Amino acid sequence: MNAVIKDSAAAIPGLAWNKRFATLGPDFFTELQPTPLPSPYWVSRNAALARALGLDEPWFASQESLALFTGNQVAQGTQPLASVYSGHQFGQWAGQLGDGRAILLGELQTAAGPQEIQLKGAGLTPYSRMGDGRAVLRSSIREYLCSEAMHGLGIPTTRALAITGSDARVRREEIETAAVVTRVAPSFIRFGHFEHFSYSDQHEQLKTLADFVIDNFYPDCRDAAQPYAALLQAVSERTATMVAAWQAVGFCHGVMNTDNMSILGLTIDYGPFQFLDAFDPGHICNHSDTQGRYAYNKQPNIAYWNLFCLGQALLPLMDTQEQALAALESYKTVFPQALEARMRAKLGLPDLQPEDKALIEGIFKLLAADKVDYTIFWRRLNGFVPGSDNAPVRDLFLDRPGFDAWALQYSERLTPVDHGLRADLMLKSNPKYVLRNHLGEQAIRAAKLNDFSGVDTLLKLLQTPSEEHPDHEALAGFPPDWASAIEISCSS
Ligand code: AMP
Ligand code: MG
Repeated sequence: MNAVIKDSAAAIPGLAWNKRFATLGPDFFTELQPTPLPSPYWVSRNAALARALGLDEPWFASQESLALFTGNQVAQGTQPLASVYSGHQFGQWAGQLGDGRAILLGELQTAAGPQEIQLKGAGLTPYSRMGDGRAVLRSSIREYLCSEAMHGLGIPTTRALAITGSDARVRREEIETAAVVTRVAPSFIRFGHFEHFSYSDQHEQLKTLADFVIDNFYPDCRDAAQPYAALLQAVSERTATMVAAWQAVGFCHGVMNTDNMSILGLTIDYGPFQFLDAFDPGHICNHSDTQGRYAYNKQPNIAYWNLFCLGQALLPLMDTQEQALAALESYKTVFPQALEARMRAKLGLPDLQPEDKALIEGIFKLLAADKVDYTIFWRRLNGFVPGSDNAPVRDLFLDRPGFDAWALQYSERLTPVDHGLRADLMLKSNPKYVLRNHLGEQAIRAAKLNDFSGVDTLLKLLQTPSEEHPDHEALAGFPPDWASAIEISCSS
């Protein structure tokens, strides 16, 4: 049965819709309805996010909610739309892109403030280009789990409320099935939205967009001498903080095109991402990234390059180029500071001493030389005892003398540090559970056979990644041999 219920619009009990983005007008989007999927079913519902939003539990589990979050039923009070943006992809100007398969339902007034609700994979839009407007189950599970993993790690990100699936067939390298992810964020505006209006010489619309973002999300910039330069600086700082958090946790985004960069400094558009297994600074997680443009250790510079594109796009709103360049400068101080703060916490140090730089650089050299498992190293370091042999950590290295020399330095540094304080910092900063590729892959394989329990289990672990879950010790272990053979490309 095809559940197209367009005559009776559904309301979400107790929550009202708003349409702030839609007030920008038709230059910014195309109004359209999602395209229904046949016989949808739940793949997973994120109860923790639903609670945070104040979503009525029984309603969330209902058939009406299933139809609404698949795009099969119109939500009362919404004005669904696909927005237009452009962008630089792999360093080249790609021209107009836009929401090719994501449809914004509107902005829900939730217990967690105003949140836009977007259905990814909900059908063709005027911006679909060669695509089919759909997302497959595989990539939807990856996006859903990773959004929540990042949130669990305290990293700014878009969220994911649910996945619905359908047996509708979708052609990728092979035939797969369709799914819809409900994404949640205060705004889905990207650097590429600004580039779109700037490059097409629509400077009035560019100003409208910048004013919208300032008024709604960066109100402090309004008081600055040059509000648009202040916006660029604020976005640079948020982006720097976000990328520092990625580096510290070993997250590789994989497709840092300017259309995949959030104006709010949120991690967005989860595709061929990867959490590092073995520490390899030059690791390339996107199989389509043949040049390694988006390798793990290139991410900080790429983010700056992307901010430069944003600055370029905002130039028509500034008096001089120097204003933009000055605004971008802040990235160069905020990024290293944010990274140092994250690394300091991972080492359990409450403050930063001049010698800590050498300590941090020293451990990264050793980790890289022996390709040590990144997450397991840091987690085991939580149990480091100054002056002892620290076998669980030491055994991870081939270069034992190298590790011993570092451990001596670290032991000395820890001597004056309060043990409880260190333990607390390290527990929060060194997660036990990250979404390794093989874990996602196992959950995907089961889901393709209609067993969604693996998705729910991972969701639970990743939402509290520092906690112990004795029943799921195996999911915190080393990756199996086949993990390194997993190839994740842009295909989603
Ligand atoms: P991405 O690399 O996923 O960030 O996508 C880049 C652009 O391609 C965006 O404009 C997407 O909306 C669009 N796109 C990706 N996949 C599809 C698809 N299956 N159907 C339509 N548009 C798509
Ligand atoms: Mg994208």
